[in-house]
Amino acid sequence: VVINQYAPTARINLAALRHNFNQVRLHAPASRVYSVIKANAYGHDLETVAAVLAANKTDGFAVARLDEALRLRHAGIAQPILVLEGANDGEDVTVAYQHHLTLVVHQTEQFDLIEHSTTPSHYAPLNVWLKVDTGMHRLGLATAQVPELLDRLNRHRDRACLCGLLTHLANADDPDDPLTARQCADLTALSVNAARDLSHPLPLCIGNSAGILRHPAARTNWVRPGIMLYGGSPLLNETAAQWQLQPVMTLTARLIARHELKRGDAVGYGGEFHCPEDMPVGVVAIGYGDGYPRHAPTGTPVLINNQRVQLIGRVSMDMITIDLRQQPNAKIGDSVVLWGAGLPVEEVAGWVGSSNYELLTRLAPRVQLNYD
Ligand code: PLP
Repeated sequence: VVINQYAPTARINLAALRHNFNQVRLHAPASRVYSVIKANAYGHDLETVAAVLAANKTDGFAVARLDEALRLRHAGIAQPILVLEGANDGEDVTVAYQHHLTLVVHQTEQFDLIEHSTTPSHYAPLNVWLKVDTGMHRLGLATAQVPELLDRLNRHRDRACLCGLLTHLANADDPDDPLTARQCADLTALSVNAARDLSHPLPLCIGNSAGILRHPAARTNWVRPGIMLYGGSPLLNETAAQWQLQPVMTLTARLIARHELKRGDAVGYGGEFHCPEDMPVGVVAIGYGDGYPRHAPTGTPVLINNQRVQLIGRVSMDMITIDLRQQPNAKIGDSVVLWGAGLPVEEVAGWVGSSNYELLTRLAPRVQLNYD
């Protein structure tokens, strides 16, 4: 393996990950936690994050897709693994039985697959959560379909075991949006109605990160935090630091060249930035080919030697250019922080018209991940 000291690196602070997980426990002390680690743990490496959170006693994991769940089982993860997309065909159901995965059932066809599965009967019944659409209108059963599915589940207890009712909040990032309270109330009402027939209330699973922090009604039997585990703010106009969340990923790259440009010189593709005066300009070895956003405009902050300077000109595939007037002594090899400790990813996302979720998850494989 060639170690390139000058390649962009994402430093992954595992102590911060543990700290953020403990913040979930602090805010939702009565809830069990499915740590959401889909999309390669929001770009932080699935297996590494899973191992740390398993050691920190998360109650389970949630992933989007079956292949992510299998990666976890192959890595020796024994906790419950919730597959949010559920099964899409009979083979998925077989794999779920074999690896003891927990499935979301968000449409009746998925229960048909379970009911008609040819998987041998010696497997334990599949754990399933019924996902109800309470207002997001993406995945989920209509409220009116729930009684019929509960009945079918009851008749097929040899095949499936009901964990409870789950829903996803559409607008929890906006604390003033009344939809969140309605979504929580509707799912609770469904559980209460079901309880009349079942003689026990059905467990609920609602809270995402924003729900956990801001909406007590979303701190249900189980919660599903994602972005807050990685130290990202789930809330509009509220910083992660306000919630004592610590950034887990710090994306760094190196200064690989510097120039003294003249007033009027145009920088980079398209010559979009013209030097307003004679000025030092630095070239940093990171670009959109690494997952740095191509549309980051002039003015987007980066840190060099812990000081803020500005990106200038267009982002290239492997490089960006920065204004060094505030850091005239910066030298080749100096480390530049693109986001993370000292520069919240939300702030960069704000410049780009993107979100912390997107920036973290689309880091390219050629960025080295280092753990400390
Ligand atoms: N639950 C579901 C169904 C999701 O799709 C997600 C993430 O998109 C989460 C939970 C975690 O959300 P967050 O990262 O906002 O905590």
